Amino acid sequence: MAERKVVSYKVLVGMEIHVQLSTKSKMFTGAANGFGGEPNSQVDEQVLGLPGVLPVMNKKAVEYAIRVGLALNCQIAKRTKWDRKSYYYPDLPKNYQISQYDLPLCFAGNFELIKRDGEKKTIRIRRAHLEEDAGKLMHEAPGGYAIDHSIVDLNRAGTPLLEIVTEPDFSAADEVAQFGQELQKLVQFLGVSDGQMQMGQMRFEPNINLHITDEVGQVQKTAITEIKNLNSFSVLERATSYEVQRQLTAWQKTGSLGRKSTYGWDEASGQTFLQREKEDADDYRYFPDPDLVPVEVDEAWLAEIKSQVGELPAARRKRYVDALGLSPIDAATLAGDRETGDFYEAVIAAGGEPKRVSNLLLSHGRRLANIQSKPLAEIGISPARFAQIAKLLEDQKIAAGTAGVLLDKLVQADQPPEALAAELGLMQVSDSGAIDTAIDALIAANPKALSDFKCGKQSAMGSLIGMVMKSAKGLNPKMVGDRLRERLSG
Ligand code: MN
Repeated sequence: MAERKVVSYKVLVGMEIHVQLSTKSKMFTGAANGFGGEPNSQVDEQVLGLPGVLPVMNKKAVEYAIRVGLALNCQIAKRTKWDRKSYYYPDLPKNYQISQYDLPLCFAGNFELIKRDGEKKTIRIRRAHLEEDAGKLMHEAPGGYAIDHSIVDLNRAGTPLLEIVTEPDFSAADEVAQFGQELQKLVQFLGVSDGQMQMGQMRFEPNINLHITDEVGQVQKTAITEIKNLNSFSVLERATSYEVQRQLTAWQKTGSLGRKSTYGWDEASGQTFLQREKEDADDYRYFPDPDLVPVEVDEAWLAEIKSQVGELPAARRKRYVDALGLSPIDAATLAGDRETGDFYEAVIAAGGEPKRVSNLLLSHGRRLANIQSKPLAEIGISPARFAQIAKLLEDQKIAAGTAGVLLDKLVQADQPPEALAAELGLMQVSDSGAIDTAIDALIAANPKALSDFKCGKQSAMGSLIGMVMKSAKGLNPKMVGDRLRERLSG
């Protein structure tokens, strides 16, 4: 049979993201929450699902979840509850996961994604609810030796997990990956998760389908497939692209729209593979957990959490552009994480002019941070020192190229930059007497250049300034130009 013709197609991707919250204890018990530790060392009766043990909600986890909800412009439910999701598998011994079904804590939000081409796109957030993570089943012993049974580590079981669900508003794989990166920065900024992908602290599940316009103008909608548990941005992008292409090719070749199903990603072959056809919510037999009381979020609590969140990255970016005059790209870089933004503001508070400080940090600050593989705030130069160097530049006491030299020295040993510049002979001469002497000497030695200039060869000015600059070390180029122009026009 001939292949079907695709006139055009639209990609629709929604995302489910699971974020582990970095609370001290687990979601419904006091057992320690954290990565690492001897297998099965972070468990207690509740995690083991022993009979008669009751769960107690972790208030901090609810606060962390609300922080994220607020940052995603969600509505926060005034009243929410907990539901049991039936789940029979040895990585969660209770045989159900406590989750939130019909009353999620956060809902109806949106996130403004600034795409790589600078264009803005609004991604609607359907919901963000709290639940608990499962443990880890291993079918191979750590170290790789063969075993005839599976082993389970329950350290992860019961970890607070925020599940964020977007509407299918992504229309390309790179948007999906970029959203993942922005969300990682956001949870780190909010201090609710380390967001380390390789530790499974953030896991992405794109839900993908296509609207294909066929030869007779009809729209063919492929079944939604979900790719489970992707934990790198690169895989997220490649797996989404692959799945789009797979659905498209399947329809072209067979006319099949596929079935709602779950796929995995195989990194070795670079392909998605079918895991199972998808359950409906009915299969999980959700029902309200009788052991937990509903959560009431009153205005006072919400106000307190809002104050913990403070100014969000998007608002900070906007303020850097509107009030401090930075370019949108510079503003986005400086406001990209909380520490860098705070450092930038500390330099301004110490007296640095905002634009000059931005330039200094984004050039030399970033260079030194890269060399040391450390965040800007930890390279060993205080905000006050950056402010002092910005001031030396502003007062034209040093030349632009000198700032880097001084900063390199400051990394090695802290000292006042002005004294250092003097010691290194890097202070710019802004003394008009010295400049005039140099100009006099030049005029005496080059009568021709002078007469050229007077005959109207304005272009000779550049080379005259160059000659004065060369004749004595460290002259302030702007002052040389000004004084020379004054002399020659006189
Ligand atoms: Mn989930």
